Amino acid sequence: MNKAELEKIKEKALKEYIPIIMDDTLEVIDKILKEKKPTKVLEIGTAVGYSAMCFSEYLNEGGKIDTIERDTERIEEAKINIVKVGVEDKINIIEGDAVEILPTLNDKYDMIFIDAAKGKYPFFLKESLRLLSEDGIIFADNILYKGYVMSDYNKHKQRTAVRNLREYIHEVTENPELETEILEVGDGLAITRRK
Ligand code: SAH
Ligand code: MG
Repeated sequence: MNKAELEKIKEKALKEYIPIIMDDTLEVIDKILKEKKPTKVLEIGTAVGYSAMCFSEYLNEGGKIDTIERDTERIEEAKINIVKVGVEDKINIIEGDAVEILPTLNDKYDMIFIDAAKGKYPFFLKESLRLLSEDGIIFADNILYKGYVMSDYNKHKQRTAVRNLREYIHEVTENPELETEILEVGDGLAITRRK
């Protein structure tokens, strides 16, 4: 993989305020993936491909990432980026709204990265649990959403997002079949495994 190109893509995304994964969040995930070496990865929210390209380094031999994005401009940019970095054989972009696409998927995934519309997190979780392999792992980014989720002030315009993120946290921490850690890295990261 062309790391210099990846770095350029990261800088450009940051300059354009595209909400790519934050360094400390990536560090946590990298460490786990280095051990786990997933074969099949599912990402919800590609943006310009940055996080998917980062994860692709840790794939098992012959492994693949399916990543879903609905914004056509971002899809076009992601496609170009993936070729520039030389990882086009490892990343498959699925174009469209994840709410419609997820129910059509039937593969099992070793790792799922949820990083799209916050108001849809409970739905993404439900679908992710259906698609998760027995010893799979689910990461949910932005789970603490600038601290709104853990504060009692909920009169801001992000009310629906906050309510749904709280519902996600409730589900992954109260479900007796799941084990979850919530980390205060980046914008908050939830890590869920089956017991
Ligand atoms: N994972 C990327 C950042 C993703 S930003 C990275 O770290 O590099 C979130 C992306 O999710 C945006 O590009 C947005 O267009 C997309 N998105 C939001 N809701 C979506 C949905 N319902 N279906 C598909 N894509 C969605
Ligand atoms: Mg994010």
